[in-house]
Amino acid sequence: MNAKQGELRVLMFPWLAHGHVFPFLELAKGLTKKHFHVYLCSTSINLDSVKNSLNNNDIPIELVELPLPSLPDLPPHYHTTKNIPPHLMPTLMKAFQMSALAFSDIIADLKPDLLIYDGFQPWAARAAAAQGIPPIFFSTSGSTSLAFFHHHHTHKSWDTFPSDTIRLKEHEKRAMIAAGESIKVKNVDDGDFIFGIFKLSCEIVLIKSYRALEGKYMDYLSSLCERKLIPTGPLIAHGDDEGVDDRDLEMMRWLGEREEGSTLYISFGSENYVSKEQMEEIAKGLEVSGVNFIWVARSPAGGDGGASVPEGRREKGVVVRGWAPQAAILRHRSVGGFMTHCGWSSVTESVYYGVPVVAVPFKADQPVNARLAVEAGIGVEVERGEDGGFDGDGVARAINEVFVEGREGFRRRVGELREKMKVEEEEAMDEVVKELSRIINKGRQQYTKD
Ligand code: UDP
Repeated sequence: MNAKQGELRVLMFPWLAHGHVFPFLELAKGLTKKHFHVYLCSTSINLDSVKNSLNNNDIPIELVELPLPSLPDLPPHYHTTKNIPPHLMPTLMKAFQMSALAFSDIIADLKPDLLIYDGFQPWAARAAAAQGIPPIFFSTSGSTSLAFFHHHHTHKSWDTFPSDTIRLKEHEKRAMIAAGESIKVKNVDDGDFIFGIFKLSCEIVLIKSYRALEGKYMDYLSSLCERKLIPTGPLIAHGDDEGVDDRDLEMMRWLGEREEGSTLYISFGSENYVSKEQMEEIAKGLEVSGVNFIWVARSPAGGDGGASVPEGRREKGVVVRGWAPQAAILRHRSVGGFMTHCGWSSVTESVYYGVPVVAVPFKADQPVNARLAVEAGIGVEVERGEDGGFDGDGVARAINEVFVEGREGFRRRVGELREKMKVEEEEAMDEVVKELSRIINKGRQQYTKD
């Protein structure tokens, strides 16, 4: 599958997480429709998921394998963040960085017109620039959280961010500082993760976002990072049975028998796991609220998530131990709320399918995304105590707010936002293509390739 005459050739290189690879893939699909030739580079295990999702559809994306060095403890099935035991994340990050030279060789071999890189690999941007290829940063995180962390980096303050509603709680600040997640990610070579990664991007930054929700924060981020931000829209995979396999049919049948808007979908993303105690509080909250539910309760190595579903409630709910077909569940008419950790893709999908949010953020950008959802009037947060813990009564109150007391308002607002997002989605790819083409053409004049 070689590039056709006149096609612009783009190498795309996401971080090794599901929540990064798949937005990159959706962007890649959009570009191929606009006569770009796309190479998507990742580890073998991630490329297997990509192949499954492409499902033999004739989409001209060339998959390029990134060879990670073999490290003890890191067999190839852990060359992805999906299902990796959390203590191996630093090892995965280390192996990823050690692949820098191999990636440089890939660039030299393919000689693309442009590199689209992710936030964890400044070395990839540098390798491209060194070979005369313009690097463009594509952020799969939202504008608000990036603006919030960039503001903290620039002004050394959490509490002066120019919005009273986007604030961290004390326990979240303590956790951020302890984890070093606020402005840098351990082992990223620059030291200043957020700041440095923008500066390496050639003129523009692509961001998985839409102005209807984040316009003012997008403008603020643009002024902080001194780059023009180009929103890509929500980048959701299309297709009616996306991700639903035979194991899911029973659950989907069960869902089909529930009343419209009656069911809470509970999932904390691809790499977050709640403790047994927290699960018990969620179970209590479900018991008190009486709502139907689908609960994705996975544990790191695919074992028993430890969720205890009270006996009497079994006909009220389904517990999924593996990977859930989230898009198919959220778009189902029986679903009326999404209890989520507020990963950016989950918040985006919630709006895309018009489902109000019950927010239970844990770390990184999740608290900011949760505050944004509350600010937009599309969800509520489960209250937490001083120490960051939550209890069953708080869970039940939040569910009740979304399913009973504020039901009409939440549904209306999320529906309105969804409409605006869809309008932007239609136009976003044209703007992305225009900007990338402009930079490639300029780069051809500016840079001298061998
Ligand atoms: N996801 C899914 N099934 C699961 C868990 C997650 O399809 O059982 C998908 C979900 O639809 C979303 C992504 O994985 O697209 C998770 O991304 P998000 O940014 O919400 O959270 P992260 O996993 O990055 O923390």
